Amino acid sequence: MKKIQMVDLKGQYEGIKTEVNDAISEILDSSAFINGPHVHAFQNELEEYLDVKHVIPCANGTDALQICMMGLGLKPGDEVITADFTFAATVEVIGLLQLTPVLVDVEPDTFNIDVKAMEKAITPKTKAIVPVHLFGQCADMDEIMALAKKHNLYVIEDNAQAIGGSYFSKDGSKQKAGTIGHVGATSFFPSKNLGCYGDGGAIFTNDDDLAHTIRGIVNHGMYKRYYHDVVGVNSRLDSIQAAVLRAKLPKLDFYNQKRWEAASKYSKAFKGQEHIISPKISCGCETDKSVCDCHVFHQYTLRITNGKRDGLAQHLNDNNVPCGVYYPVPLHKQKAYADDRYNEEDFPVTNQLVEEVISLPMHTELDDEQIDFITKLVIDFVNK
Ligand SMILES: *Cc1c(COP(=O)(O)O)cnc(C)c1O
Repeated sequence: MKKIQMVDLKGQYEGIKTEVNDAISEILDSSAFINGPHVHAFQNELEEYLDVKHVIPCANGTDALQICMMGLGLKPGDEVITADFTFAATVEVIGLLQLTPVLVDVEPDTFNIDVKAMEKAITPKTKAIVPVHLFGQCADMDEIMALAKKHNLYVIEDNAQAIGGSYFSKDGSKQKAGTIGHVGATSFFPSKNLGCYGDGGAIFTNDDDLAHTIRGIVNHGMYKRYYHDVVGVNSRLDSIQAAVLRAKLPKLDFYNQKRWEAASKYSKAFKGQEHIISPKISCGCETDKSVCDCHVFHQYTLRITNGKRDGLAQHLNDNNVPCGVYYPVPLHKQKAYADDRYNEEDFPVTNQLVEEVISLPMHTELDDEQIDFITKLVIDFVNK
């Protein structure tokens, strides 16, 4: 059996080696390292793929989130609501801009932000909400957009984990994740579903004015060369990363399909297991039926409900199967983000999830033998 990786970037590279190497040597020959033609081409190709009016590339996903908040003109003291159960980048940029983060609980089955908890957290100071499409599946955007409209709030989608996925609205329409709110942010960190070979990120919006504002912010607040109208940042996607992304973008649907297939095999193996909860698919598609893009499985995350999660993680590692606990500490308990405003009884789900979740290897190169090996190890250990 091939050695099992959490993310198999090398195996994936083998399949696109010629395109990537050729593009990189072309850039080395041209010396157009920054703002070269590949960056503009990638921007256009991604706009087309996502069916969104504007893609603004930037240096990484964390910058993308920060720039969204700057672009919307959020001011110190404005409250921004986001999920307690996510990667810290989301809340970090809220803090950096001296906005007030308001963390709320998530749903136990999708791991995504709980819209009822969000509604309860709205105050006259609330200006924006940041749903995170955790592990590759969209938060309940119908409800979130309705709530935002009712309270006049901006919606910033953190789409770092769900690029290429779609949201299925209750009215039957379908939109790409990250293009539904006022603005969306994504990351091209190597292990993300669309990853480059370094750091990268992008912002998406259908709002022409906001896109214009953001294009200046990413470039030192310049709208005309050497005229600085606003305080900006320096956040660029470089040409080499854009070239890598151009090689991968045409394969993104195929890559996400492979993830769905691996997830489907995992879930089939875990069906009927008393102490193992497989990820829920909220759109109604069934993993063992046809392939669907409502979940792009950035992570395949189980809940182990009989207290054996930590033992299982150790057991998998002892058997050379990598795994991850995303995330082991609720944000409201992190030293940097803890605050007297929070009450433990408002976070029952996150507090439980951090004890139960475990993410299994998930990438585009997993084969059946590996999946059988992993699922058998999990089932045997949990039932022992
Ligand atoms: C990866 C990630 C980010 C940050 O992306 P970087 O490119 O690493 O800065 C933000 N939010 C979420 C949910 C992520 O998973």
